[in-house]
Amino acid sequence: RLSSFANSRNLVQRAMHLLQDKAYVNGEWVTAASKKTFEVKNPATGEVVGCVPDMGVEDVQKALEAAKVAYESWHTKTGKERSELMKRWYYLMDQHHEELSKLVCVESGKPICESRGEVTYGNNFVEWFAEEARRIRGEIIPSPSNNKKMLVERQAIGVAALITPWNFPHAMITRKAAAAMASGCTCVIKPAEDSPLTALASAKLAEEAGIPKGVFNVITSDKPNASAVGKLLCTSDLVAGISFTGSTEVGKLLFTQCAAGIKRVGLELGGNAPFMVFSSADLDAAASGALACKFRNCGQTCVSANRFLIQEDIHDEFVEKFAQKIKCLNMGNGIDEKVNVGPLVNKAQFEKVSKMVEDAVAKGAKVILGGKPATAYGELYYEPTLLTHISSDMELYKEEVFGPVATLIKFKTEEEGLAIANGTQRGLAGYFYSQDVSQIFRVYNKLECGMVGVNEGIISAAEAPFGGIKESGLGREGSHHGIEDYTYYKYICIGSLT
Ligand code: NAD
Repeated sequence: RLSSFANSRNLVQRAMHLLQDKAYVNGEWVTAASKKTFEVKNPATGEVVGCVPDMGVEDVQKALEAAKVAYESWHTKTGKERSELMKRWYYLMDQHHEELSKLVCVESGKPICESRGEVTYGNNFVEWFAEEARRIRGEIIPSPSNNKKMLVERQAIGVAALITPWNFPHAMITRKAAAAMASGCTCVIKPAEDSPLTALASAKLAEEAGIPKGVFNVITSDKPNASAVGKLLCTSDLVAGISFTGSTEVGKLLFTQCAAGIKRVGLELGGNAPFMVFSSADLDAAASGALACKFRNCGQTCVSANRFLIQEDIHDEFVEKFAQKIKCLNMGNGIDEKVNVGPLVNKAQFEKVSKMVEDAVAKGAKVILGGKPATAYGELYYEPTLLTHISSDMELYKEEVFGPVATLIKFKTEEEGLAIANGTQRGLAGYFYSQDVSQIFRVYNKLECGMVGVNEGIISAAEAPFGGIKESGLGREGSHHGIEDYTYYKYICIGSLT
């Protein structure tokens, strides 16, 4: 299939044995009932790198039925048995680290150095939850009556439907699926239409690891099918819970659809992270943290800094330091080891970012760097951009820009800075740089978000709970809390023991 795309074939040829142009349902590689397919393109070059089934509700129904059957035998395995199978899956992912990284790179445009980081991060969830499978403990409640024993167990909820975005094609799958599988749930996964290949490669490795059929199913659907497929996943009696990462708009729709059947819902939605730099901060460290936090994955990360809030007296010095660092970024096709800023993922994202910058400039923003498409590199590239004089009426102040655009806002006092930081309906991540210990505790306490980075711009890890408050979502992924979305408490009262 890839023979006519010589460059892309060359880039991913070592990874190709992991792909079969088919989706993975009930342990089999399948086409769509309609026989329709859709192409997956490399955002860096526009080349086609794969072609996958465009599945509809009929295909999804089969996957749900298979997952329901598989649940019966998967959740009755011991935690140790599930753990051992998942560890085999992890070892295979680790062995195929470079191939998975290349797939992430070519289907999402993420630079290869970062793609490797994502695969390590994504694999860590499989390792972590393989271990957690053996530690899903219950409780014995001190009974008010001597002839009653009161126990609580955590039991798997059933079939979990997992809908994931394109910005982390590997890690968003493993962060959800590994937690679900460790808990004893089976999964039907719908990866984003822009980046379904890495998910299919993970399915291939799950098959090789001996994960039983029906436990890990991957269905692929193009955009027009996404809403019908999503609706079935939210309303089917076969599904016990949904976990979604993506836009707040789609998250709200899925939440509403799940309400009718009172389904479990886990939502990881958009952020609008503040990144505050106080007068006492180490400005070089703050500029380095800002660079990593903003320009990683070309700014297409829900925990990216979206608004840089800089205390007035160090504002100009920080702008200078940050601008110097931004100038050192290397833009281009991410398969080149030297590149650290790639393209935006698709035309819609490119236009969204361009329009947000145009809107800001029209309303008085000052362009320090960039501010326009980087057409010399290709259709979807946008110059790393630094804007000052940002005001609250601008789109990119209110919504995550999801692109390589840093926006700087001045504040005078800590109170004013915090009021700006918290003046949003999003509450995923927040960051600040300060060397003042009492200020660190005050600000950390007052920031309204689920995750806080203090003197640190990169905070996610398999060991730590990831998630937000307000409209940024519900539930936590990763850490030992990650199993909560996939288990329920079952209380057992045993009477007449005497
Ligand atoms: P999206 O929310 O539309 O897509 C995410 C996933 O949801 C994809 O798998 C998609 O196929 C699926 N989907 C879309 N409509 C659906 C529906 N009606 N029912 C069920 N599933 C559906 O996100 P997008 O359009 O790719 O990006 C738009 C914006 O969302 C971005 O600009 C960014 O602001 C935000 N976003 C956030 C994250 C995050 O990590 N929080 C990730 C991707 C995008």
